[in-house]
Amino acid sequence: MAERMLQFVRLQQAPPEKRAATERRADFGEIYREFAAEAATAQASRCSQCGVPFCSVHCPLNNDIPDWLKLTAEGRLEEAYEVSAATNTFPEICGRICPQDRLCEGNCVIEKDFESVTIGAVEKYITETAWERGWVKPPTPRVERAESIGIIGAGPAGLAAAEKLRRRGYQVHVYDRYDRAGGLLIYGIPNFKLEKSVVLRRWDQYRSAGIHFHLDTAIGRDISFAALRARHDAIFVATGVYQARDIETPGCALEGIVPALDYLTASNRENLGDAVPEFASGALDARGKRVVVVGGGDTAMDCVRTAIRQGAASVTCLYRRDKANMPGSMREVKNAEEEGVIFTWLAAPEAFLGDGRISGVRAIRMHLGLPDPTGRQQVAPIPGSAFDIPCDLAIKALGFDPEDLPAAFGEPGLPVTRWGTLTVNQKTFMTALPGVFAGGDIVRGASLVVWAIRDGRDAAEQVHAFIQAKAPVRQAAE
Ligand code: FAD
Ligand code: SF4
Ligand code: SF4
Repeated sequence: MAERMLQFVRLQQAPPEKRAATERRADFGEIYREFAAEAATAQASRCSQCGVPFCSVHCPLNNDIPDWLKLTAEGRLEEAYEVSAATNTFPEICGRICPQDRLCEGNCVIEKDFESVTIGAVEKYITETAWERGWVKPPTPRVERAESIGIIGAGPAGLAAAEKLRRRGYQVHVYDRYDRAGGLLIYGIPNFKLEKSVVLRRWDQYRSAGIHFHLDTAIGRDISFAALRARHDAIFVATGVYQARDIETPGCALEGIVPALDYLTASNRENLGDAVPEFASGALDARGKRVVVVGGGDTAMDCVRTAIRQGAASVTCLYRRDKANMPGSMREVKNAEEEGVIFTWLAAPEAFLGDGRISGVRAIRMHLGLPDPTGRQQVAPIPGSAFDIPCDLAIKALGFDPEDLPAAFGEPGLPVTRWGTLTVNQKTFMTALPGVFAGGDIVRGASLVVWAIRDGRDAAEQVHAFIQAKAPVRQAAE
């Protein structure tokens, strides 16, 4: 092992090539190129095969990273894929969009002196190779079971649960109010981070494995929650969080001020070839406009970079804290800077200006004060520091809260936390309603794809245990 691994002392970190900012500003294609085989092998060999791999400890899926790096370095890619797929339902997606700087790579022990192993890029490479070579198979069960499971929400949590349960032979029915499966993977996250074909090919496999998708079907509107419970032996709720936080400032009702997810969904639909009237009318198109995005998280970064690609005249990101305190991934901030986004840190909107339509944002400078009980520094406005930014399109990206699910489902027995997220037993993922499980953002609050996958996988195991306890062996009639 020693000759092949531990190459970090000799080999420098070399992530896959990033397309030049001028080139990537002009299209919505992913910005990182693929690893060539030799580069992936060489980069995997930099791993020092730690006895206690902090990379795995800090991966929400506890992926067996050192093992699949070693197998890659040895050219044993099919085995590397099997090890990687054993703990991750969508390794090719996590390899693209996990904030690795905060998770696996940020905790790689060689990071301090030698720069981390490029874990995410190798993970993506392994699974893309597996797709090319036909190793990724639909989750077709060997034996059918009679019990059926209803899953509400076809985002990463719902799909990860569906995949596991189908493999076990359950009749799996996924309900989603959208017309495509994928949740935020399809309609939130832009193409330049995650091309949609990557999600759609998984969906194709799930359909071919017999998972039933009931799309354009909102639970609580088209089918009642009670009817769904009567239809299935267990339910998994994975509806995500979609209530956009708002800004209450003078002028906030002016035309040309839009919520981030409306803006991103329109852009994603346009890229998918759908007819999008709000895009065609120009209401959700940044072309030629002076754009101001309010917020500093990943959603804000996706908005600013989308506006650049749509041909905005200028794009400014207004964030009330400083760069070091931005909640999003630093890698995405850097990408946005390279692509020409203007960052105005330590500033918040005081008013939107205009007559009927927005023409500017009045912002006020902020300063960082003492930390609050969570350790986060408070912000306060600096009196007399207001300034105006010309603006034709303002995008609000201030985060999301859950909708009132007990009301939407007509089920007051569903308990929620004070933040509106669903309360579940942390071990069993079950809500207070027997046979109703929940996971992903609707339980955690706005989080990450990798955590949604983890919840979906773990909850599926708990659903199986629940069904087994009721009816250990009930195979479907042939
Ligand atoms: P979702 O993906 O939100 O899926 C929920 C699904 O439930 C949706 O399809 C919705 O239509 C459906 N649904 C809701 N209510 C009903 C109902 N009543 N009936 C039927 N269906 C219903 N995370 C990362 O790790 N990396 C990133 O780069 C990243 N970028 C992001 C960018 C944006 C713009 C946003 C908004 C989020 C981003 N995230 C990112 C977060 C990540 O997308 C979420 O944490 C993750 O998608 C949550 O998965 P989920 O399955 O719980 O919910
Ligand atoms: Fe890193 Fe995410 Fe992959 Fe885990 S799933 S190894 S955190 S990229
Ligand atoms: Fe390899 Fe870094 Fe993980 Fe150690 S922490 S096993 S060096 S990837």
